[in-house]
Parts: sequence; structure tokens; C-alpha cells
Amino acid sequence: MDADFSHNPKYLTIMKQLLEDNDFVIGSRYAKGGRCDYGLVRTLISRTANMLARYLLGIPTHEATTSYRGFSVDLLRQMALNTIWSDGYSFFMESIFVVRLATRKLAEFPIHFEDRRAGTSKISKREIIKAIYNIARLFYRRLFVIPFVVYDPNRPIEKDQACENCNSLFHMEMFPAKYAENEDASIYQCTSSGHRTHGRILKCLHCGLVFNETRHDAKKLLDFYSNVEDPTYLKNIDSRFKTFRYNFAKIKPRLPASGKLLDIGSYCGISLKVAHENGYETLGVEPSKWAAGYSEEVMQERVFQGVLRDLPAEEGPFDVITMWDVMEHLPHPVEEMKRIHSRLKPGGVFAFSTLFIDNWYPKIMKERWPWYMDMHLFYFTLDAMNQLLTKAGLQLVHHQKYTHVITLEYFFFKLDALGVFGAKFLGDAIGKTSLRNFMIPFSFGDIQLFICKRLDNL
Ligand SMILES: [Zn+2]
Repeated sequence: MDADFSHNPKYLTIMKQLLEDNDFVIGSRYAKGGRCDYGLVRTLISRTANMLARYLLGIPTHEATTSYRGFSVDLLRQMALNTIWSDGYSFFMESIFVVRLATRKLAEFPIHFEDRRAGTSKISKREIIKAIYNIARLFYRRLFVIPFVVYDPNRPIEKDQACENCNSLFHMEMFPAKYAENEDASIYQCTSSGHRTHGRILKCLHCGLVFNETRHDAKKLLDFYSNVEDPTYLKNIDSRFKTFRYNFAKIKPRLPASGKLLDIGSYCGISLKVAHENGYETLGVEPSKWAAGYSEEVMQERVFQGVLRDLPAEEGPFDVITMWDVMEHLPHPVEEMKRIHSRLKPGGVFAFSTLFIDNWYPKIMKERWPWYMDMHLFYFTLDAMNQLLTKAGLQLVHHQKYTHVITLEYFFFKLDALGVFGAKFLGDAIGKTSLRNFMIPFSFGDIQLFICKRLDNL
């Protein structure tokens, strides 16, 4: 609808009612009872255009050029919108023409089209000529029965894009997709520098959850993670240890003092080792065969190679479950949270870190925020996180910034991966000095640490 109040919102209830039995509904100036505040010349042009549409194109409604319209979602999902040739003013007519080919369930209701309360008309002479040409073009196709693509069989049904949190189908595109030229498991490595390639970044209009429209199903993703090998990760093992020790110290006061701890996505086992040092009986779950092997052979930590779903029930229940930088990789975080709930002892604690978009850094970086990448499927807000956890019977008790401790050399390596000019040169120079192992704590707040308790009466 036009937002300048030419289309009075009071008609929306009528539209909603009509949509129950129709696939397409239009507010009509020229149906019986309709009115229009145009002057003489504009009325004449508009009337003529609509008459031509009605008689030459076989459009059954008296109105074809105003945009006060309602569509059934099923119709919109399957319509081949990309084959509509015209844009601007002509689009309104051509889209009804296509709707008419797709369905017989069209309806109109009379409206009083008021003078706009603000703004000016954008319909130029060029638009009028284009509209006439477009009517002629469509009439020609109709006359000679030239087939018209109405449904697009390849258009994906957008059911999978329903918001993970609130199931809403309505979202806005924050950033368009940027696909990698060659895609293999390497972009799913922990240290992947595949920054800046991702699917469409979408924001749920209902709850604000931000998600990456991945082209891969859950099975394919798990396949990627199972085959990941990532020796670069081990190059910075000291800073990995420092990072886990730093963050474990943050969560420790809120954990049971001892007991069974499960770490999901334990990767090379460093987080397990740190939990072990803190006096817990540890077990890891890790899909990557390479990382799980490393954990057992080098770190001497027990790891179940696979995913939580397949972990035998005899393992557990657990006093503590941790999950570091994993939540954003999961295709269905709520399902995993529910599994975590079922594996925790009553009153058990679940602590995890994940990407957080309610923060100044992603806001100022916009599309250049480095965490928009293929393997990250979700970017959480505090509201959405609270709602997701509640659905799984978990209660958020605390959250704060997550801190990465990194070496100066790694810092420049990352900057270089982000395309910062001169970073490689400086990194190489520092790499030759003892400064390379200088540790810096890093926390912008765009990664947050969440601590939750299991609620027992779900
Ligand atoms: Zn939502």
C-alpha cells in the first residue's frame, strides 16, 4: 500500500476478510462505491489505463493500477516474480496480469483514494509511455497465446527460512549474499579466514533474530565439520589456553564446585584440559575426526566423536555443560538447547559463548563485521536468546563479554585476513621478534558469555 495515506488503513480489515477466500485482493477506486480525489486529467489517464487493462488483458477487476493489494502467501511463494519484465508504474498492471494467469480467486473492494497527505507523485511521461508499451506487449502475448511463465518450479519454498525463534516468515535482508568461489570444508575451520563470504544476512521482523541463509542442510553441514582439519589452530595453542583459562575463571563462581562436565564442540580438547585443571570430571563431544583424535592422543582427554544427539545416555547426566563458540554454527539452536536440558542434572548449569549482535561493534562495522561468514548461521540478540533458552527450559542467569586472548602475531594474521592494508608486512616483521608471543586480551562485546540454569518444570 501507499504510505502517504492515499490508501486509508481503515480498509485493512476488509482486505483481511476477503483474503480468507481469495488469493489476491485489491482496493479499487473504480469498483461500485469507490472514489478518487484526482483532478480531471489524472482521472482520465488512470481510467483509460484501467479500461485497457480490463478489456485488452482480460483482468477481471475494475482496478489494475493502484498498489493497495493483498496476496496469499502461497501465491507469492510460487509466483515467478523474476519473469515480470516491467518495473515502476507498469509493474502494478503486469503483476495482476500474472496473478490472473495463476489464480481465478481475485477480488476487489471499493476504496476512497484520498489526496496524499505528504510527498509528490513520481509518475513521469516516460512511465506513461512505458505503461502503454507494456499493455501492448502483454496484449500481443495474450492474442497469440504465447506462454507466460507464471509459476517457477525452481523457486524454493521458503518454509525453511521461518525464524528459528518465533517461526515468523517475515524478514528483511540486511546484507546480500556473497558466495565463495570454491567451497570446501576449509571454510568451516575454526581459524577459517573465509571472512566476507556468506548467504543472505536476514533479520526477523518479528523478534529481531539475525540469521544467515545457508544453502546447506544440516546433514551437509555436519559432513563439513566432521572432515575439518585445522593445523593453524594449534599454532596458537598458548593463546587458546590463556583464552579458556580466562573465561573459565569468569564462569567458575557460578558453577557447582565439582562434578561431571560435558563440553560440546570441544575441538582439540584445550577447553577440556582447562576444565580438568579446575577439578571437573570431563567429557568432550566433537564432530571433527581430526580434532577428536588430537584431544585423545595429545591432550589425553576423553572425547566422543560425533554430536550430542548420538552421545550414549549412560554418559551423564552432567552437573555442567559448556559450549564455546558453537551455538552460532548450529542449524537449530533450540533443538540442541533442549538436548542440553535433558542431559543436565536438575539445577545443572549450562555456560556458553556465542555471537551477539546487540552491540556497538557490528553496528558500526555493518557488512564489514568480520563474523558474517558462511559457517555462522545465527547472530543473537538478548531478547531472542532469552526466548530461545526459555523454550528449552533454561533460564539465563548472567551474561557478559567473552574475552579472547591472542598473540600479537595472530592479531596481525587476522587483520590481514580481513584485508587490512599493511597487516601482513607488520605481522611478518613482528613474527621475527620476541614480541610475537605477546598476549593481548580482546573483547568488543560482540561475543558474549551466557550462563544458564536448568529449569526443572518444563
Ligand atoms: Zn523471529
